[in-house]
Amino acid sequence: MKKVVVHSPGTVANLVCGFDILGLALSEPYDIMEVTLIDEPKVTIQNLDTFNLPVEPEKNVAGVVLISVMEKLNNQFGFDVRIEKHIKPGSGIGSSAASAAGAAVAANQLLGNIFSKAEMVQFAMNGEKLASGVKHADNIAPCIYGGISLIRSIHPLDIISIPAPELFVTVVHPQIEVRTSDARQILKQQVPLKDAIRQWGNIAGLVIGFLKNDFDLIGRSLEDVIIEPVRSILIPGFDELKSSCKEAGALGGGISGSGPSVFMLSKTYETALAVAAVMNNIYYRLGIDKNTYVTNINPLGVSIQSK
Ligand code: ADP
Repeated sequence: MKKVVVHSPGTVANLVCGFDILGLALSEPYDIMEVTLIDEPKVTIQNLDTFNLPVEPEKNVAGVVLISVMEKLNNQFGFDVRIEKHIKPGSGIGSSAASAAGAAVAANQLLGNIFSKAEMVQFAMNGEKLASGVKHADNIAPCIYGGISLIRSIHPLDIISIPAPELFVTVVHPQIEVRTSDARQILKQQVPLKDAIRQWGNIAGLVIGFLKNDFDLIGRSLEDVIIEPVRSILIPGFDELKSSCKEAGALGGGISGSGPSVFMLSKTYETALAVAAVMNNIYYRLGIDKNTYVTNINPLGVSIQSK
């Protein structure tokens, strides 16, 4: 029987000003998935963690993705999946995307590399539709491509990898749940023109900052005048967290995905560690449990460990 093990990383979507169009892959945390190709046209799922995610394939994002792969190839085979999840569901660091992207990459490997990265993103987006109600790729794309991704368009799919300097990422996950679907519902549907102008100035600045290794420009452009003012009310201590992390030397940052995780980018590992200490202090004082990660941008995305 053919079997593959993949590591599927967490991701930060939105990157502050790039709502729904920018995302980056993290080196940590990552899920471990073992996927086996079987003769029968069915999917079985086994969870090797304590998150109690559904094992019915049509209710688990990994299952939905694998079913869509099977259907594309006329249901001639199936998959057994074992998931050891380390990215907590609902954390805002792409837990569902890791399962979806990991499933697509593992299936592609087992089937002899017949799909392009863009096709794997298409399959994986079926999983995101299950998790959040919408097909979005700002977690999936960096998870599959690695590095930083621009999703210029979903229909038709147009993904561009953005070269960037080495950057360190500090992520804090306060242990409260914010559902992606709820975080989407509170958003305003109209944007004043002056805010839109400021936002697209920031997006352009951020992308150019990445391309030119211009850390000051990256820092200046990490500003969100549209989504953050609304969503940050769901995250305790957000304003203080942001200003204190910048005082500690972070270039900038904001809500990771739809929260409640908050991320900060730093130029050096030492600064990223200092930023983590600031985050830990704030949540300790607020009496909220948290997980903190100090990591960097993962250039590879989902990686194949063994066949
Ligand atoms: P995140 O941004 O961390 O991915 P979401 O709120 O988008 O969090 O997705 C988590 C939701 O998806 C939860 O309701 C969870 O039950 C559901 N889900 C189904 N299958 C999976 C899976 N394999 N991994 C993670 N979440 C899953």
